[in-house]
Amino acid sequence: MQSGRNPSLMEGIETKSSRTGGASDVSRSSRGPSFDAKTLALAIGGVAILAVAIIMIVRSVSTFGNSVGSASRLRVAVDAESGKVFENYLIKDGESWPWKNPTTGMATLYPPEECWWTSSGEAKLEPTYVLLNSIIGKEGPTTCPDCGREVVAHNPMPPAELLLKAAEREKSGSK
Ligand SMILES: [Zn+2]
Repeated sequence: MQSGRNPSLMEGIETKSSRTGGASDVSRSSRGPSFDAKTLALAIGGVAILAVAIIMIVRSVSTFGNSVGSASRLRVAVDAESGKVFENYLIKDGESWPWKNPTTGMATLYPPEECWWTSSGEAKLEPTYVLLNSIIGKEGPTTCPDCGREVVAHNPMPPAELLLKAAEREKSGSK
């Protein structure tokens, strides 16, 4: 019985040890590739993140490039009839105003000038878009409907210190 048990025990130990050995061998051999896969996955992940970052940078650069002149560009357009402002109007390259209003189908959109003044003579952070009389075929100087100042082509911004004050006002919450 004992002699019978011992071999069976030995067999058990042997098979166990050989199994664990085998298992550890398998796990070792599978650990090797799994480490590689992990590194590969990390590398791919890193590359993917880098690619996304590059795409975002390229996109932001190309939006800046758009204003310089590529296939199309976004700009502000104002409807001379309704006064409606189109903040991100897409203009195809070489397309001259008046542009077509997508809502009405009429060519009544013009590029506005920006007025950054308030009626109290301070600067503001959101401009009022004003169409110049000379652009829409009206006589006389153009005045801003918000502050009453005269608006000219390439309308100048308020001094930097007034803009800074406006930014500070906005920060403190009192507009
Ligand atoms: Zn104004």
